[in-house]
Amino acid sequence: MPSERVSSVLIVGAGPVGLTLALDLARRGIEVAIIEQRRKGDAPDPKCNHVSSRSMEVFRRLGVAAKLRNAGLPEDYPHAIAYRTAFTGRECGRIHIPCRRDRFTDRTGADSNWPTPELPHRVNQLMLEPILFDYVAATPRVKIYNRVELVSFSQGEDQVTAVGRDLDTGEVQSYSARYLIGCDGARSTVRRGLGIKLEGDGEFMRVQATFIRAPQLIAQQQHERAWMTYSLNPKWNGNVIAIDGRERWMIFNYLRPDQFDFDAVDRDGSIRAILGVGPDFTYEVVSKQDWIGRRLIAEAFRDRRIFLAGDAAHLWAPLAGYGMNAGIADAMNLSWLLAAHLNGWAPAAILDAYEAERWPITEQVSHLAMSQAEEETRRRSAVPANILDEGVEGEQARAEAGRVACETNIKQFAAAGLNFGYFYDSSPLIAYDGSAHPTYTLGTFTSSTVPGCRVPHLWFDDGRSLYDALGPEYTLLRFDPSLDVGPLATAAQKRGFPLTVLDVVSREAAALYSTKLVLARPDQHVAWRGDDLPGDSLRLIDHLRGALAQS
Ligand SMILES: Cc1cc2nc3c(=O)[nH]c(=O)nc-3n(C[C@H](O)[C@H](O)[C@H](O)COP(=O)(O)OP(=O)(O)OC[C@H]3O[C@@H](n4cnc5c(N)ncnc54)[C@H](O)[C@@H]3O)c2cc1C
Repeated sequence: MPSERVSSVLIVGAGPVGLTLALDLARRGIEVAIIEQRRKGDAPDPKCNHVSSRSMEVFRRLGVAAKLRNAGLPEDYPHAIAYRTAFTGRECGRIHIPCRRDRFTDRTGADSNWPTPELPHRVNQLMLEPILFDYVAATPRVKIYNRVELVSFSQGEDQVTAVGRDLDTGEVQSYSARYLIGCDGARSTVRRGLGIKLEGDGEFMRVQATFIRAPQLIAQQQHERAWMTYSLNPKWNGNVIAIDGRERWMIFNYLRPDQFDFDAVDRDGSIRAILGVGPDFTYEVVSKQDWIGRRLIAEAFRDRRIFLAGDAAHLWAPLAGYGMNAGIADAMNLSWLLAAHLNGWAPAAILDAYEAERWPITEQVSHLAMSQAEEETRRRSAVPANILDEGVEGEQARAEAGRVACETNIKQFAAAGLNFGYFYDSSPLIAYDGSAHPTYTLGTFTSSTVPGCRVPHLWFDDGRSLYDALGPEYTLLRFDPSLDVGPLATAAQKRGFPLTVLDVVSREAAALYSTKLVLARPDQHVAWRGDDLPGDSLRLIDHLRGALAQS
């Protein structure tokens, strides 16, 4: 076996989660190796289309957001969701989300006024992944080994060793690292190798999904284009996603409970019904992407030196478009914890926070997606029989079906709660003060500085985003510049704990921040707040770096 390849962190899988994790770890000074079974440049399956606001905030910090924002649909292609009798049929309702050209100027979209410097984006994984890959490939601290499949791994007191096989030559290679992260997707070899089971709800929906090429389709619409178009049709319920805004489309046919055999369902007939086109219409099937809706979460996200993130740790139906986004949130959580330990300012106990924080959120998010799926299934089965009729009654049926569809779904297409509402309420690293966390739903949230919540975003009076001003590590936000924060800075210095102080000058602050000091973590969650420093600053610092949990 050739000599061992050594890194601090070994990531298995260069999907969106593994790539984002690698970028952030490298930015924090950590040497990373990634093994990925696909060839460099191999296209992923065209799965994910929605990049959440939170993920875009992450990509902004990593310097990738602008490039991603310019990828996907043409700049004038609306990111709206349309409900029609068929893709080429009559429109019943529409959720307005502006095209990327107007993303930050049109304030009338369903999510346009969210408190963030980065609104959500719609771009397919086919285009997103190569952009991330190129950034990672150009990052000096990361080495990507393509065409290498993880075959086995083991862990000892101080390190993890993995064996990878080159899929072209058959050659095996050993990799060692202090930590290994399984970002290897739904069928995760890492999760199975650890014997960690998936738990939750088994199959609850089946979707026949077909990726097609049909350049002539776009011109056959009677209405303005939309990123996603649902067909409200008593016979076939489906939707069409515009992948490149020109010729590539993903078509989902939601099967009824009695249609459990993918191949027994007339694929061509359902595609024509969803599109509303006749037998003369021609299209090319690029690939079949049938999927089954489940809600499954790994019973543990960690075994000593090995962690799971992304689809390796959780799977649910893509309602609210949050699978990858949840994985990116995992990566952002794990990244700073690992770096804190590997960079020497936190004990290994800090790593316990990963599961303590992410597992409960994953459980909550999976249930929110699941209940949206159930609500949407009920709506789909109640399409009025007269929706295609001419005359007043047909018009009324279409208007009512459109209204119900928009009302049922606006919360998944403008999921403010999923983006900004979740909080960590049982973390060993957060200094709670007894205040209750504000509840959130899929579509609603309340900005709050209760420790564990997302640091409320605001704009500085000089136009800067707070998130651009936050440092990469801990930042103490000071709303009263006369307050002496020297003792906390001294305590931080004593422990090598990276802390910067930021004086916030913003007219928005009074409405959002109720205390004079708020300590933001590297992942923009509130770690501590107060009007004065605590009596024992060193104890607070030790709490935040996991040193009290250890003793
Ligand atoms: C129809 C559909 C629509 C979706 N829409 C959205 C959406 O709008 N928004 C959203 O957030 N999510 C969406 N998702 C979910 C999203 O696609 C996934 O959550 C996301 O791809 C997970 O990323 P990942 O990096 O964890 O795993 P993956 O993307 O599965 O990547 C895993 C990587 O690991 C590699 N790998 C696997 N095993 C090995 C091995 N043994 N050795 C080496 N390499 C290995 C694979 O080749 C792959 O590159 C959707 C999913 C589906 C099915």
